[in-house]
Amino acid sequence: MNDSILVFKFGGASVKNSEAVQNAIEILKLFPNEKILIVVSAMGKTTNHLEHLFDLFWEQDKVSFLSKANELKKYHTDIINELFSTSIRQEILSNVTTIFEDITRFYDKKCGKNKSELYDSFVSYGEILSSLILQKYIHNQLNESAWADSRELIRTDANFQKANVNWEKTIHNINVICQPQLKKHNIIVTQGFIGANSKGETTTLGREGSDYSAGIFAHALEAKSVTIWKDVPGMLNADPKFFKDTIKLDKISFKEAIELSYYGASVIHPKTLKPLQNKGIPLFVKSFTEPLESGTKIDVDTSNDRDIPSFIFKKNQVLFSITPKDFSFLIEANLSAIFLKLSEAKAEINIMQNSALSFSFLVNENQDKVKAIIRILSPTFHVKYNSSVELVTVRHYNQKTNDFVCKGKTILLEQRTRTTARFVLI
Ligand code: ASP
Ligand code: MG
Repeated sequence: MNDSILVFKFGGASVKNSEAVQNAIEILKLFPNEKILIVVSAMGKTTNHLEHLFDLFWEQDKVSFLSKANELKKYHTDIINELFSTSIRQEILSNVTTIFEDITRFYDKKCGKNKSELYDSFVSYGEILSSLILQKYIHNQLNESAWADSRELIRTDANFQKANVNWEKTIHNINVICQPQLKKHNIIVTQGFIGANSKGETTTLGREGSDYSAGIFAHALEAKSVTIWKDVPGMLNADPKFFKDTIKLDKISFKEAIELSYYGASVIHPKTLKPLQNKGIPLFVKSFTEPLESGTKIDVDTSNDRDIPSFIFKKNQVLFSITPKDFSFLIEANLSAIFLKLSEAKAEINIMQNSALSFSFLVNENQDKVKAIIRILSPTFHVKYNSSVELVTVRHYNQKTNDFVCKGKTILLEQRTRTTARFVLI
């Protein structure tokens, strides 16, 4: 274990404007004698903005593309102008201008490459911009930092938009490039979300993938811990959008956090946990506005997992119930035919159940997919479905929690294991 390295992940919200960037400096000041590797996301909603720009490029709408690109440039240059005094802002402004020249030039690029490949090389500008600005500002304020290019560190395959990490190469690169950098500098700033394949082409790890990047860096550096700085006080036992009296989970295990994210809890990117669990590196989720508060600690210790029930809500679901038209029983041969058809329809199943004559399954309410499912199953099955239902998962349930979530609703389907109760409700 490399006791001296901390990995911090700053998400988009934690660097969304100049005050937020200044706040990040205040957080760093709380750790004066530590070696810190910072993994930063694009500022605010920049990735959404870049995705929109990319659509305009794809539709060849040059006028809108240029005006939207200018908005994004203004957003970044405003932040720079607020952060840096006139005498020192020139260098970073010219870096940012060069990037926006590239963005504008991108429009005229020959479309020989496939769409996903172009997407990755385009949306990655967001993290390049944020990391350059943050690193410069840290350097200016704390006098000690360097920038690292994660495209030279995180090696992936060529599965653009959801690239898979080549661990061996990545660990090697991080050790050869980052370790010596961290000997010289206390703080290194690099990008979340992005990497490169063996040809050096930019890839991304999937939307919201910066948490995962932090996990990768921490694993490779055998860091002391990872902290994800967020706009919530930690991991809560339910999404505050659906639930009034949420409780913060002070401490849970990797195992529990993986279960929660499997069922749909969305605080941490699901792939983040494994690389940390493998090395026993604890993960903290903390509030960037309340950095001295304890937040949530996730580690190997499972002793607190059952303390507080957690609730995960998935709204906008469609519950299908299908019966073979020939009234045959649902034996294994039928089930495997159903699964083949469902994978043909690219259906992602959130819960399923079968009886002698019928098979029920739940999918997200997506018009195109629902239509595809009906089209593919109708020749051999009677297909019935309920739209606008919700799926509620309760971890570590009891009678009170279950009465609470089902109150005033009709239960269409119900499943329980020793730890988890799930209800499809209307
Ligand atoms: N900026 C990327 C996104 O918004 C990655 C991340 O934020 O984790 O998806
Ligand atoms: Mg983001």
